[in-house]
Amino acid sequence: MKVLVINCGSSSLKYKLFNMEDESVLANGLVERIKLEGSVLKHEPLGKEKVEISTEIPDHEVAIKMMLDALTHPDYGVIKDLNEISAVGHRIVHGGEKFTGSVKITDEVIKSLEECIELAPLHNPPNILGIEAVKKQIPGVPMVGVFDTAFHQTIPQKAFMYGLPYEYYKNKGLRRYGFHGTSHQYVSQRAAEILKKPIKELKIVTCHLGNGVSLTAVKGGKSVDTTLGFGTVSGVIMGTRCGDVDPVLITYLMEKENLNYEQINDILHKKSGLLGISGVSSDMRDIEEAAEKGNKRAQLALEMFEYMVIKYIGAYAAAMNGLDAVVFTAGIGENAIQLRKNVCEGLKFLGIEIDDEKNNARGKEIDISKQNSKVRVLVIPTNEELMIARETKALVY
Ligand code: AMP
Repeated sequence: MKVLVINCGSSSLKYKLFNMEDESVLANGLVERIKLEGSVLKHEPLGKEKVEISTEIPDHEVAIKMMLDALTHPDYGVIKDLNEISAVGHRIVHGGEKFTGSVKITDEVIKSLEECIELAPLHNPPNILGIEAVKKQIPGVPMVGVFDTAFHQTIPQKAFMYGLPYEYYKNKGLRRYGFHGTSHQYVSQRAAEILKKPIKELKIVTCHLGNGVSLTAVKGGKSVDTTLGFGTVSGVIMGTRCGDVDPVLITYLMEKENLNYEQINDILHKKSGLLGISGVSSDMRDIEEAAEKGNKRAQLALEMFEYMVIKYIGAYAAAMNGLDAVVFTAGIGENAIQLRKNVCEGLKFLGIEIDDEKNNARGKEIDISKQNSKVRVLVIPTNEELMIARETKALVY
């Protein structure tokens, strides 16, 4: 059985074709700059040369068609016929409160997704465009939607509510939703496998530290709290997003600097975080390099990032009344050796002890804790696409 996984953004489309017999990747690729000048498809077929095709790509339908043509191309394709694709899994950013798990896509589901647009105006529309385009190009192929928010629908109400008037939750759905759910689900399940313990018995904090950052408290395999909320800026500072700020600062800034909705949104999402603090870059590698050379603001950005990760791990250990494992994943979590060391040193009081030699690893699955550490510390490369492929297979068969 072959499952195609699609992640459709506003101007990009990522895809991966899996052979689910052994979960191997047959091809993966990326269409960039859809609707813009310089659009390109980059296709990597298993065992063959990479291909890049630069041509006009005016919309998502054309992008999907190009991807399907690449997958079946006589020279650089990996399947002979589109019939070989048994199912398509779509990453969908927001499922609101309606979707508590992955779902087989029907016309009714598409309608419900449209109702969630208000909650994710930038992300859900391209997700829906991707679904419609696949439906047109390969009609009849079963499709599954896998939501970034669904894993967090188990968060109890006391943790997902904000202290605003209750009506805003009831009438407008203002609450914590959380994101990166597929990643947190994948690494927490993998952690249980590595630790050879039933996930039901484990209390884990999963740290997805990438361009976007979120930490999740996973108790018994279920998300019980997470740092991203209604939107995608809360919690730890990120590449360009601000993390937790006193909400009064926002109204204060709007008033004093005469900022409108777009301007303040731009500051919170694009001009803050590592970039805003350091003035150097949003990329952790650049921050580390500048900090090493003595740049004070880069050092501060790094310290803030580490401090907030430590703080949330401590908070979530309290929220779960215990902690068995911490998992580091995504670009920073998988690669930033010194940062992992500093975070773990700040958590010694919880009985966390890591082995420096084991920690000297990048991008690979490894238990970096010392034998006698009370809490296991794992590095697990995330694999959201595989999780989506598994969910798709499970719902279709
Ligand atoms: P992601 O969003 O998961 O692709 O992660 C992107 C982030 O990972 C960026 O901030 C990168 O700087 C960071 N990153 C990738 N490789 C490394 C590395 N070797 N050391 C530190 N940070 C890294």
